[in-house]
Amino acid sequence: MSELLAYEEATSTCTRCPLAATRTQVVFGSGDPEAELMFVGEAPGFHEDKNGVPFVGQAGKLLETLLNGIGLSRADVYIANVLKCRPPGNRDPQPEEIEACESHLFRQIELIRPTLVATLGNFATKLLSGKPTGITHVHGVPQQVALGGNEVTLYPLFHPAAALYTRSMLSVLEEDFRRIPELLGLTTVVPEPAAFELEPEPELERPLEPAVQLGLF
Ligand code: URA
Repeated sequence: MSELLAYEEATSTCTRCPLAATRTQVVFGSGDPEAELMFVGEAPGFHEDKNGVPFVGQAGKLLETLLNGIGLSRADVYIANVLKCRPPGNRDPQPEEIEACESHLFRQIELIRPTLVATLGNFATKLLSGKPTGITHVHGVPQQVALGGNEVTLYPLFHPAAALYTRSMLSVLEEDFRRIPELLGLTTVVPEPAAFELEPEPELERPLEPAVQLGLF
């Protein structure tokens, strides 16, 4: 069993916070365990809690459409949330719930080792950037951060659920999404240049060619 699967299994019985009492199940995450691109949302909602998979409701459909729009699908990425259990009535995550749950997310990131982490909305952005600046100010601006022992590009985006209700936010989200392929390209490892280096210019041991003397080279 992979380390990620083993960790998922261990997490399935988590009782670190009171959400354990009201959840149907832990919603650990889904997708390619070796994805270069990972999305981090807020917390499972009604449908996610029932199905055990993140982003399967309306916001998830929009996320899929946005992914398809840049030539990707759910299977190409990994999707997780800040909280692994549904807050009752879909209320905001509480600071003590985030504190209790955050090490699950950090361990996931450590095991998946994505190069690009796209945070969806305020909760994921603030937690993973380590800064209190809200999404309105930082969306669409990549940041370099250290996560899970690796240097990662953090890319804050509006939460798709917010874009479902506000048309102008949807256009911004679409525009921000369009930069993802470029960011994935930028973060892939550039191969070392071929083992061929220009020799340093040898000391001139013979008289210059006439063309050099004339300043043509
Ligand atoms: N919103 C989230 O932040 N996460 C989900 O899994 C679903 C909706």
